[in-house]
Amino acid sequence: MELKDQVALITGSARGIGKEIAQVFAEQGATVIISDINAEMAAATAEEFKKQGYRAEHFACDVTNVESVEQMVNKILDKFNRIDILLNNAGITKDNLLLRMKDDEWDAVLKVNLKGTFNCTKVVAKAMLKARKGKIISIASVIGIMGNAGQANYAASKAGIIGFTKSVARELASRGITANAVAPGYIQTEMTDKLSEKTREEILKNIPLQKLGTPRDVAGVCLFLASDDANYITGQTIVVDGGMAI
Ligand code: NDP
Repeated sequence: MELKDQVALITGSARGIGKEIAQVFAEQGATVIISDINAEMAAATAEEFKKQGYRAEHFACDVTNVESVEQMVNKILDKFNRIDILLNNAGITKDNLLLRMKDDEWDAVLKVNLKGTFNCTKVVAKAMLKARKGKIISIASVIGIMGNAGQANYAASKAGIIGFTKSVARELASRGITANAVAPGYIQTEMTDKLSEKTREEILKNIPLQKLGTPRDVAGVCLFLASDDANYITGQTIVVDGGMAI
């Protein structure tokens, strides 16, 4: 039970990688706060965890709306008096080639991925500073390190998360708070299930481990960063990509 009695807030956790992170954290004894823009799905996911005997709460929260984040964090603090772990996971893509990319495609991706991470970190850090303890983990992407044609907005937002994480780590270290990022490569999700066989073969050629990652591969690294085993690690980005970015 590596996270026994800890309270973990995971954004965008009604489905996908965030849901798997919540599952792994709950298995390790954490109370998991399922937070998502989709209220119904967040409630259903929290219910699933409760049926497994885990402690889970759910909140509808749009990470781009700082009032929505503040309301959620205040309610969590009223109930549990603490947030030990913040996992900034909510993220979107709106791919297009540079010359075709519309302003709203650029703005939407930066707003959810980067501004959302800023909003949640700023609000939760206040409570962590008082407690002089906390772990902040943000999901970046290998695309933020390597770049990718058709994903200038996404790459910029994820590279932004990496720089943001280093600054936050420097600012909050003296108060016992660590900030790290996880940069996944291609992970088997609903999104990658839709890839054609040909595209999948092309992708696999660039992955030394010759397979896509699983949400659990990402969740396992998040668990390590959230645990006491990572107490002396801050400002880092751990790449989980089967060797693609070597
Ligand atoms: P999903 O789309 O499956 O899940 C993301 C969740 O975030 C959804 O439930 C979504 O809700 C929610 N969300 C979207 N916008 C907001 C918002 N404004 N406020 C709160 N929640 C929101 O994505 P993945 O699980 O695949 O990705 C999770 C993270 O991992 C993202 O940051 C992504 O960029 C990153 N990542 C994913 C990779 C992959 O291969 N899948 C690779 C590298 C990084 P709704 O469904 O209603 O939109």
